[in-house]
Amino acid sequence: MMSPLFLSHGSPMLYLTATPAHRFLAALGRDLAPPRAIVVASAHWETAAPAVGAAPRPATIHDLGGFPDALHRARWPAPGDPAVAAEVAAALSAARIGAAVDPARGLDHGIWVPLAIALPGAGIPVVPLAVQPGRDARHHLALGRALAPLAASGVLVVGSGAVTHNLYATRGQAVDAAPPAWVDAFRDWVAEAAAAGDAARLCDWRSVAPAAEVNHPTPEHFLPFFVALGAAGAGAVGRRIHASVEYGVIGMDAYAFAT
Ligand code: ZN
Repeated sequence: MMSPLFLSHGSPMLYLTATPAHRFLAALGRDLAPPRAIVVASAHWETAAPAVGAAPRPATIHDLGGFPDALHRARWPAPGDPAVAAEVAAALSAARIGAAVDPARGLDHGIWVPLAIALPGAGIPVVPLAVQPGRDARHHLALGRALAPLAASGVLVVGSGAVTHNLYATRGQAVDAAPPAWVDAFRDWVAEAAAAGDAARLCDWRSVAPAAEVNHPTPEHFLPFFVALGAAGAGAVGRRIHASVEYGVIGMDAYAFAT
């Protein structure tokens, strides 16, 4: 069983900046037992209905603007895996969720920024998976649950987003600015509910978590968390394997899930 992971990718500047979160990802990659493929549910692929990417050689998507040239020029040439994409589509079909197969989808920065830090050799195939901001946490938990058989057969399932993500509140903040109480309250609530394996409480996050709306004015950066939680199977608990905050309000916490 590959423990599914939730990774916070933060600002694209993470790629160029040796912050604690950057160093965590580099160490994570060094310690990782190589999976046969990595399926990544990314906050930066938003669709109305589930979709999986099956490009054999997915392009590096530069879905970012106004950053240094080194970011716009960066390439992370991990191969795709059409066979694993077909396994994902079959698993979602068997779970009566279904998924469109996109033969050309590349790797958005929610995928390549954290994985290029963790796996600079780009030798492991990567399959992108979309999130549905119009659907709730339970939909994404079900999507993850459908992928549990893949996680049990050597595929690493990753959700890539951010544990807190209020971009408006990053203005003027230094990368190492101290977080306000409303950021830490949400992060600690997530850590506690994840450690308790309380998927039902986590799924109700928008109504019961402290400062949920201000930490996530839109939900897409937290939804990948539920894909990773679901992929670990019913009764899974989440262990916080990294905790830091960048620009005061972007939570960089990472989780590993296991039953
Ligand atoms: Zn993002």
